[in-house]
Amino acid sequence: MKYYSTNKNTFPVSLNEAVIKGLASDKGLFMPEKIKKFDPSFFKTIDKLSFQEIAFEVAKKIFGDDVEESKLEEIVYDTLSFDCPVELVKENIWSLELFHGPTLAFKDVGARFMARLLKFFLGENQKQVNVLVATSGDTGSAVANGFLGVDGIHVYVLYPKGKVSAIQESQFTTLEKNITALEIDGVFDDCQHLVKTAFLDKELNEKMALTSANSINVARFLPQAFYYFNAYARLKEKGALNGKYLVVSVPSGNFGNLTAGLFAREMGLPVEQFIAANNANDIVFEYLETGNYNPRSSVETLANAMDVGDPSNFARILDLYGNSHSTISEIIKGYWYSDEEIREIVKRVYDQTGYLCDPHGACGFQALKEFLSEHQTGVFLETAHPAKFTETVESIVGKGNVPLPEKLAEFMKGEKQSISLGKGFEGFKDFLLKR
Ligand SMILES: *Cc1c(COP(=O)(O)O)cnc(C)c1O
Repeated sequence: MKYYSTNKNTFPVSLNEAVIKGLASDKGLFMPEKIKKFDPSFFKTIDKLSFQEIAFEVAKKIFGDDVEESKLEEIVYDTLSFDCPVELVKENIWSLELFHGPTLAFKDVGARFMARLLKFFLGENQKQVNVLVATSGDTGSAVANGFLGVDGIHVYVLYPKGKVSAIQESQFTTLEKNITALEIDGVFDDCQHLVKTAFLDKELNEKMALTSANSINVARFLPQAFYYFNAYARLKEKGALNGKYLVVSVPSGNFGNLTAGLFAREMGLPVEQFIAANNANDIVFEYLETGNYNPRSSVETLANAMDVGDPSNFARILDLYGNSHSTISEIIKGYWYSDEEIREIVKRVYDQTGYLCDPHGACGFQALKEFLSEHQTGVFLETAHPAKFTETVESIVGKGNVPLPEKLAEFMKGEKQSISLGKGFEGFKDFLLKR
C-alpha cells in the first residue's frame, strides 16, 4: 500500500519509505491510501479472540500488503508482551488501562511496534541507523525502551537538564546497550531544535543514517488502533455492551492516539462517539465548537503530556474527513479541564470509587461522565500509570497513596549514565560525528 502526504505536494511512497523518513518531503504527514474494512461479522465473535489475536487481524488489514504474514505476526506478538485490560470504575464507565507496558504509558505500544518494523525494513542492509528523539519526559522513555536491544539501531535521547522528573530520567538514562542519553543544558525546545537541525544538516546525513521516532511516524500511530478493538472485545465479553452504543474518551495532546481510534472506526469498529478530552490547551476544543483552528504556544498544566499548542496529528483528522467541520464535530465532541478541575476530579473519583486516575486519564473520565447517556457504555483511555506523576497525584490524594509499581522501582535502582552537552548545534554535530 502507498502512503500519501497530507500536503499532497509530493508523490506517495511505500510503507518502508514512510517509516524510515517519518515526515513527507513536503512536510506533510503520511496517510495510507486505503483503509480496509472488517466484515461486520468479525465483531459478532471478536470477544472470543485474545488481545494479541485481535491485534494481528488489525495489523494484517493495515500492514498486510507490505509485510509478510509470519513476520507481521512475530512483530505483533513481540510488541504486545503485556495486556491492555478494561476495568469498571463506576456504573457504565470503564477505564482502558494502557499502562501495563515497560514504561507504564500507552506510547509503549507504538514505540515497540515501530522499533520492530524499522528493524525489519532495515533487513540485511547492515548499515547502522541512528534514531534521534527529543523528549520532555514520556516520549524518551517509551522510545528508548521500545528500541532497547534492537540490533542495528542506536537511539540518542535528548532531554533538558533538570526539567524531567527523577522517575522519567531513570527510564532512559539507566538502560545502556544501544541507548545514549544526552543531557542538554537548555529547555525542551532547544532539544527539539537540535534534532530538527540535525535532520537538515547535509554533512551529518551523508555520514550517518538518521531517523526520528516521534508520533508523526505511521509505524508509531497506526498500531495504537489495536487496543481500541480490544476494548470493544473485552467490554462485549463482560456483557457491558448489550444493545448499548460505545463512546470512547481520549485524553489528547498531539492527537495521535485519537486519530488511531478514528482509523479503527473507519475500519468498521462500532464506536458511536469519540470524545477529545483536553487540559487548558483547548485549541481543538475551540475548533470543534467554532470551526476556527488557531494554533498557539502551549501552556503548562498538571497533565503535561497534553501540553500541545499545535497538535501535529490534527492534519490527519482534517484529511480523513475532507476538511469537513460538520463531520468532524459530529464524530468528536470536545471537553477541557483546568488544573484546578483536574485536581478535583482525581480526588473525587478516588474518594468515591477507590480508582486512582493519573492527571491525563482524569480528563478522559470526566468528559465521559458529562457526555454519557443511559443508552451508552463509555470507556476512557487511562494513558499512564498515576505513579508516573507521583508528586502531583500524592499532592491530591495524600502521601503514601500512590503505590510505586515494581517496574518503576527497578528503573530507579539503575545507575544514571548520561552525557552533558550544550545547546549549540556544532557541539552536538561534533559529538555525533565522533561516535
Ligand atoms: C503522549 C500522552 C498523551 C497524549 O497523547 P497524544 O497521542 O499526543 O494525543 C496523553 N497522556 C499521556 C500520559 C501521554 O504520555
